[in-house]
Amino acid sequence: MKLAEFPRYPLTFGPSPLQHLKRLTQHLGGAQVWAKREDVSSGLAYGGNKIRKLEYIVPDVIASGADTLVSIGGYQSNHTRQVAAVAAHLGLKARLVQEKWVPWEDPTNDRVGNILLSRMMGADSRLEDAGFDIGVRDSWKKALREVEAAGGTPYPIPAGASEHPLGGLGFANWAFELAEQERALGITFDTIIVCTVTGSTHAGMIAGFAALEELTGLRRRVLGIDASATLATTTDQVTRIAGHTAELIELSRELRDDEIQVLAGWAGDRYGIPVDSTMAAMAVCAQLEAMITDPVYEGKSLAGLIELVGSRDIPKDSHVLYAHLGGQPAINAYHSLWP
Ligand code: PLP
Repeated sequence: MKLAEFPRYPLTFGPSPLQHLKRLTQHLGGAQVWAKREDVSSGLAYGGNKIRKLEYIVPDVIASGADTLVSIGGYQSNHTRQVAAVAAHLGLKARLVQEKWVPWEDPTNDRVGNILLSRMMGADSRLEDAGFDIGVRDSWKKALREVEAAGGTPYPIPAGASEHPLGGLGFANWAFELAEQERALGITFDTIIVCTVTGSTHAGMIAGFAALEELTGLRRRVLGIDASATLATTTDQVTRIAGHTAELIELSRELRDDEIQVLAGWAGDRYGIPVDSTMAAMAVCAQLEAMITDPVYEGKSLAGLIELVGSRDIPKDSHVLYAHLGGQPAINAYHSLWP
């Protein structure tokens, strides 16, 4: 099927806004820097990138007759908060497995930010001790069995909605949405910067831009900035989901190796723990643009953008687009970074 033929259940206000970050551009003295803002594009509990993925999954949820969405993430998972939001919006229940993905010993970590919002929206959010892993987990399978044993009908949504067969479609569509916006603006972005952890955001973009390249011949760099600190696993997952999504939307060729670029250098040693470049990037963008990013994901991809523009790896005549994927609620659990 072509992408436009897949059913999509609208959960956003419409196309996410494009914003020219003029003061950041001036500060870096290189490429023109813009952002496409998934963090302000939905009314559902502050939105974010999972909302867009879920737009393509919800029709399958409804068709399945399920009454409970079952998903998994860390204590401060943005993904599970967005699943809770979509469940509330659809009148379904949410059962969330929240694992200790980050050794962040703040006493508020399992109480504020994303997990607080999920609880407010009525989700059954339960804590588990397991550490970071983007794969399919036993705790999640157990939650699915428990919902069934209690007489419910679960609908499984894996971490980040990435391993879901339709998980890449939302950001394949993002590429087409961007192409429309570019036409209206008269600008073409030659480089896209996107934070990558469970992979389907970046992978979906790769498939979408490949499909666009078939139509227009335009090649761009879609640079994933790893924030998982498990580069090989994330790169494998991006490669697999990009290939699967490309097949799903009937790309007529295999993806090229140069289309799959997950860059290391800004994740630090561990998922969820910021490093100096993360802190500097978050500060510069907050102070120049009032654009808020988080220490787990977007601060790390922003650090990548800042260095690549500053070093002229992204040349001065480029238009570079930063995909802002949301994530701000987590900053509450990281309050001690700004004493
Ligand atoms: N940015 C934010 C704010 C996120 O919540 C996530 C989710 O994991 C990502 C980036 C990474 O996206 P993905 O898991 O699709 O690689």
